[in-house]
Amino acid sequence: MSDKYSIDSHKLMLHPARVAKWQEGTAQDNWEILKKVYPIYVEISPFGGCNHRCTFCALDYMGYKNIAIDYQILENTIGNMASVGIKSVMFAGEGEPLLFKNLDKICAYAKSVGIDSALTTNFVPLRKQNIELLMESCSWIKVSLNAGTAKSYAEIHQTKERDFDTVIDNLKMAISHKRAKNLTCTLGAQMVLLPENMNEAVILAQLCKSIGLDYLVIKPYSQHLSSHTNKYEFIDYTKMYDIEKELEKLNDDKFNVVFRINTMKKFMQKKQPYKKCNATPFFWAYIATDGKVFGCSAHLGKDNFCYGNINDNSFSEIWEGEKRKESYIYVQSKLDIKDCRINCRMDEVNRYLDRLQSPFEHDNFI
Ligand code: SF4
Repeated sequence: MSDKYSIDSHKLMLHPARVAKWQEGTAQDNWEILKKVYPIYVEISPFGGCNHRCTFCALDYMGYKNIAIDYQILENTIGNMASVGIKSVMFAGEGEPLLFKNLDKICAYAKSVGIDSALTTNFVPLRKQNIELLMESCSWIKVSLNAGTAKSYAEIHQTKERDFDTVIDNLKMAISHKRAKNLTCTLGAQMVLLPENMNEAVILAQLCKSIGLDYLVIKPYSQHLSSHTNKYEFIDYTKMYDIEKELEKLNDDKFNVVFRINTMKKFMQKKQPYKKCNATPFFWAYIATDGKVFGCSAHLGKDNFCYGNINDNSFSEIWEGEKRKESYIYVQSKLDIKDCRINCRMDEVNRYLDRLQSPFEHDNFI
């Protein structure tokens, strides 16, 4: 199955200078070098509350608090992040980012300082007046859309059936704006494959294609270690692999279904092939709605992975600070990755870094 944006793998090898700095620092075990290895990509949770309660929500334990990051602090943080080489931000997180009042404005600001921005959203609370600036500012918008019918959607998102029509209407509006203004913002949807929606994957893909979306991603569930829910922990994806064949028929040069079979197979293996995490605390970061900066989303809320708070310090002060150094030592010497989330966000990056550190026999025969 084609995957134009490498959604089912990783893109760290496209950032060789950052990787080379990390290699230099680890080879010398030199924190002065390592502390300046900044993330390529940062996820930001601008708003803690959510209008939905999806049955599979990994961050249910964060409490859906109706709090927001202070706008000026966020703008200052993004400005600082641009100055130290962070290349992209995704607005998503613990809640629904569209509930953050000035999301369009902050995306435009990120773009103005040279950071690519993106949005993952349920797209229900979209205000029409925000779509223009949002789409002009974002590289992509991905809509969480976990069913092909209003009835299943309402059950899985734990909301009203009419929200399904609202999302589809909002998507149509966004697509028509994109076409009218000839914008480059990629518009996609994502379904977490569950026993409750597996029979609607093809229906959803047909719907996404018919309204003019660029892609649909279908990905497996992944059990977060702190989630309250564990309803889907033991899903047997081997019974769902065949769906890919039907989906493939819908691919053409304008629409792409990415059925994340690589990730599904890894989910079924239940074990990482590497022994240590090399990605954290380096290539990715998360800013929670309360301002705390974490290096790993699977360990959100844990002090060992929290480096500081943007309400108290700049991002660079936090990133180069003592708490991140302590976290690095913890990850290197104490963390047992058996206690980590299978298919965590950095899994493919970790596979790549592990191979750099422990090359295969013929890796020099390029
Ligand atoms: S969950 Fe993944 S990124 Fe986080 S510490 Fe474990 S291996 Fe690293």
